[in-house]
Formats: sequence, structure tokens, C-alpha cells
Amino acid sequence: MEQNWNGLKSQCMHCRACGLCETRHNVVFGVGNPQAEVLFIGEGPGENEDLQGEPFVGRAGKLLDLMLEAVGLSRKHNIYIANMVKCRPPQNRDPLPEEQEACAHWLAEQIRLISPKIVVCLGRIAAFHFISPDFKVTRQHGEFIEKDGILYMGMFHPAAILRNPNQKPVAFDDFVTLRDKVQEICTHTTLTFD
Ligand code: SF4
Repeated sequence: MEQNWNGLKSQCMHCRACGLCETRHNVVFGVGNPQAEVLFIGEGPGENEDLQGEPFVGRAGKLLDLMLEAVGLSRKHNIYIANMVKCRPPQNRDPLPEEQEACAHWLAEQIRLISPKIVVCLGRIAAFHFISPDFKVTRQHGEFIEKDGILYMGMFHPAAILRNPNQKPVAFDDFVTLRDKVQEICTHTTLTFD
């Protein structure tokens, strides 16, 4: 696994399969424990992520980390976080369909190697792609949907919570729901409270 994972990462770090390679500072492959049973998926890197080469490191990322840590989950120990597109689209525009298509195999291979029990989609773009094109985050966040032996959950994107802080308590309830499910089915995951 480790050899395959390192090989995948080093190939991805040199990828020039779409135009986003021209403007990126860093390829944002992902962060966390590749043997985690819980995988979080976002849409793509923003400015801070592009500069630091790590997903979810700006204000939204800090909020995500706080909510994760409150339920015993963290990128340092027991989850993995990756994006659908590994290089930042200029001016934070949505990735073009051809960019998403060119990049999709990297995440597909990450999912295959991690083999998660639970996939959490952060925001509507990831939820559209992995759960359903009809997914409504406002109505269906926090619900588990089983597909091909994996439980998928859509959550509010942390940037959306920052824009609308009233959503924070409801959003946090989803993390509690996630923790309960992790305790129920993720037999190799130890919740950690540093
Ligand atoms: S966005 Fe994906 S496909 Fe495009 S250059 Fe970056 S890693 Fe390659």
C-alpha cells in the first residue's frame, strides 16, 4: 500500500494533464492518514491551499479542524482529506468540466487505495459528483447514503458556514452524527483528543 501510495503521489505531483498546471504553485495531493477509514472530499484548492500545498488550510480549514477535533477526528491521525481537482483554478473559478475529467483518476486511485468506509462530501460540488446530481445540501446534509459498500454523507462546506454562521450548530450536529457512525462501523479508528 505504502509503495503504491507514494508512487501515486509522486506521479500526481508532476501532473500536467490539464491547463491548471500553468498557474498552480503547488499540486495539492491531499493530507492525512492514507489508511484512514474516513475520507473527506472537497472541490479544489483555493489560494492558501495552492501556496501551502495542503487542502483546507485557510479560515475555512481552521473551522473544519476545530469541528473535527471536537469529535475526536483529525487530519493528523485518523482521517484523510483530498480534493476533486488537485490544482487551483485561477481566481477561484469553478474547475471546468475538462479539468475535472482530466483530474478525476487521481482521486479515484486515492479512494481505491484508502478503501474508506465513510466518505464525507464537503459542499455541493462533491456531493453532486459522489452522491447524486440532485443532492440538496440544505435538506440532505448529515444523511448517510450507501453506494457500493461505502457510506456517503454530504456536509455544508466550511466556507459556507463562515459566510452564514447561523448554520454552525446544525453543521456541527453532522460531525456528531459522523462520530457516532465512526464508533459504530470503523473498527480500526481510534478517536483522539489532543
Ligand atoms: S488539476 Fe489535476 S489533471 Fe490538471 S494538472 Fe493538476 S493534477 Fe493534473
